[in-house]
Amino acid sequence: MGLRESMMAVIVRHKLLANQIPKDCKHPLEEWMAIKARKTYSKNKELREWIGNTGLDPMTRENFEKYQLFRVREQMRYAEENVPYYRNKFKEAGVRPEDIRTYDDLTKIPLTEPNDLAEKSMLFYGVSVTKMLREFTTSGTTGHKKSIGYTQNDMISKIDIVASALRDIGMTKKDSLHIMFPMVFAWDPSLVMVGACNILGYGSSVCAEVDVEKQLKSMKEAGSTYIIGIPSFIYRVTTLLSKETDLKALGIKKIISSSEPLSESLRALLQDAWGCKVIDVWGMTEFGLACAVECDEQNGLHTDEANMLMEIIDPETLEHLPAGQKGELVITALNAEGTVLIRYRTHDIAALLDPPCGCGAHFNKRLMKPSGRMDLQFKIGNGHKVYPVLFDEAVFLSPDVIDYHVDITREGYRDVLTFEVETENPNDDLAHSIVKAVSSIMEIEDGLAEDLVAEPRVRFIEPNHDYAVKVKKIRDLRENYD
Ligand SMILES: [Zn+2]
Repeated sequence: MGLRESMMAVIVRHKLLANQIPKDCKHPLEEWMAIKARKTYSKNKELREWIGNTGLDPMTRENFEKYQLFRVREQMRYAEENVPYYRNKFKEAGVRPEDIRTYDDLTKIPLTEPNDLAEKSMLFYGVSVTKMLREFTTSGTTGHKKSIGYTQNDMISKIDIVASALRDIGMTKKDSLHIMFPMVFAWDPSLVMVGACNILGYGSSVCAEVDVEKQLKSMKEAGSTYIIGIPSFIYRVTTLLSKETDLKALGIKKIISSSEPLSESLRALLQDAWGCKVIDVWGMTEFGLACAVECDEQNGLHTDEANMLMEIIDPETLEHLPAGQKGELVITALNAEGTVLIRYRTHDIAALLDPPCGCGAHFNKRLMKPSGRMDLQFKIGNGHKVYPVLFDEAVFLSPDVIDYHVDITREGYRDVLTFEVETENPNDDLAHSIVKAVSSIMEIEDGLAEDLVAEPRVRFIEPNHDYAVKVKKIRDLRENYD
């Protein structure tokens, strides 16, 4: 039995909360969070005593935050017992689970740096490697790979939230989701997506082909009414297919943009071409990817607050910032068993908006999507990350090269990397050898093969050029990455 089949078998045995959302519910995702909190309340004396006999129906923001802080304490207890990194970290900081009673108390817990996770991934595991159902790797800023492990319970919980999010987006049993990821991601998006569709009785189709005709064929065969994919790839499909096909006639009800920033200009273009709303989702591999999803208001993303507690801090002072103010997003997992992350610095700049939302959701906070990374990673092609040190070896192959930086621009659906190389001896041979060396870097090679990255370009500049000292090694000049 393959992984997907064995997961399905397990899911069938579990009563997922997504199936307990009432049929006429107007806010399935928020209701799912309330059901999860009520379940914890009914099972747990500490939480019952804290909240009192009033219970959690109806749910209030105040009581939901108590549920979250209770889960932080539980996660800390789990970490003290099972996660070596936090056992030491809490001891050093002298912080105990009981110390966390208010939102401001969270600042007593030391922050976790992504580089720590990259360098010591195994110390973040709450179970042994053999008990992980799935391990994913994602590149760190220093070039280390972060390993993120998920247990079976972690995966089921993820499928559960994705299922309730699909309901929230408006899918019904008459619909079918076309899963359009043109690549082998470091993870398998179809596993969670197909699983979520299955438990709710929705149709689904998966097509990993770069060939847009094959994508169209797959959609038509499945009778797709919803699409999920990365926006630059959906843009490519849109551009190439719209020449010969009336995309509006395909009857797509909504497009879900995932894994990459969605600019408002691209959203407008896609909505116009397909005649439907394009909604944004946001996630991080570290937290199982599906972390937040937009509603029809298209004004902030509803976050999975049942499994995550988000904070916005001033990256300099590390103090909490008020609602609506932009700062660094810090996330604490509330129910993780595999990789446990407590107060993890995302190095993403974002803001949180207080409820209510125009859609009627009344206790769930929304995330104003990350608008810029503080570190220096950029995604190109179909999601490969590039970072400064990646090109050093290829560009510094000749002693004539003094320094360089890379500008990323976009032409059509292709990313263009232009290397501005500082040298006293510019010549064609040097340019050719740099292009050749850069093109053989795995991330670039894949992009070229998939036709999502153009051939790298070299432009020579004179030494001591104005910005040679101060300029960022990689500058992302793409309009779609605002
Ligand atoms: Zn809403």
